[in-house]
Amino acid sequence: STKFEKLNSVSKAYSDYVSSPYNIRVLQWNILSQALGVMNDNFARCPDEALDWNFRRYRIVEEIVQYCPDVICLQEVDHFNFLKHVLGTQGYSGMFFPKPDSPCFYIEGNNGPDGCAIFYRKNKFELVKTENKILEIWRVQSNQVALLAVLRIRETGQEICITTTHLKARQGALLSTLRNEQGKDLLQFISNHCDNRPIILCGDFNAEPTEPVYSTILSNQLFAFSSAYAGSQEDVSNSADGEPLYTTWKIREEGEVCHTIDYVFYSKNAMDVEAVLDFPSSEDIGEDRVPSFLYPSDHFSLVCDFRLASN
Ligand code: NDP
Ligand code: CA
Repeated sequence: STKFEKLNSVSKAYSDYVSSPYNIRVLQWNILSQALGVMNDNFARCPDEALDWNFRRYRIVEEIVQYCPDVICLQEVDHFNFLKHVLGTQGYSGMFFPKPDSPCFYIEGNNGPDGCAIFYRKNKFELVKTENKILEIWRVQSNQVALLAVLRIRETGQEICITTTHLKARQGALLSTLRNEQGKDLLQFISNHCDNRPIILCGDFNAEPTEPVYSTILSNQLFAFSSAYAGSQEDVSNSADGEPLYTTWKIREEGEVCHTIDYVFYSKNAMDVEAVLDFPSSEDIGEDRVPSFLYPSDHFSLVCDFRLASN
């Protein structure tokens, strides 16, 4: 099927590169909170059965494990214990940090707050430390969070810093200002904990590449970040920045939403991108868009193969 052709476009077979301690495959995905997806989002063209947790949870797991990622960064996780249990059987260990006033709390039958999660492959990494933060806007706590893990590659002893976040949603000039402030606090948080380690920063930034927060992250002198998907799509990209045309594509009552708001940023002086997973085409996705039976979230997964400089 198309899914496996896409998988093949991510570099070599996993068995080839897993033996190298210099390669890291990262999966970034907003999995769509179960409570929000069913009760809040009002996806106009998604069958109810596709959102049924007893079905959807296995599609989420399947999507994650088929790519054999070394590191998994997830947002809108409101079933962490389920993922921890299932991914635990596949050799992963993980951590979770919830949003302080998650919109899930206001939904009947919720499974607790949604938040960010990081999982890592236990046979490849040792956890050095984990940190979390409620992001601040002008020194006041917001409802968005960041989660950070410092991982030591067992074979070489090299340490890397993984960070994930899910910035404030919704459109408008004020909201893009708020996201930019959250982005500045996120960079401060990273600088407090990463020291000189190579950084991979993944998330749902809820911001198109034209928003200030995108430039704030890429123009930061201290970190020298690049965006892993920028330039990867050749003729089917946002022209100015080379980002893909979409990382999420859904139809709500208000209309169709198709844009790029999820990113994988990385320290360009410390690693190279060897391959990224292509997104499904509009034909693959189908005219009802996502979520669907085939794609369990309204966001697509981003998968990147990094190669660490071996000095
Ligand atoms: P955000 O604005 O960041 O969004 C919360 C979630 O809503 C995100 O996961 C987002 O998904 C999703 N979302 C974005 N656009 C839409 C849309 N058009 N329709 C449906 N869902 C959408 O929220 P905050 O975390 O800042 O929380 C909002 C506040 O509202 C909370 O503090 C909570 O207290 C309050 N609240 C109160 C409720 C009540 O009944 N009293 C109900 C809900 C929230 P994505 O990132 O993928 O776009
Ligand atoms: Ca959402």
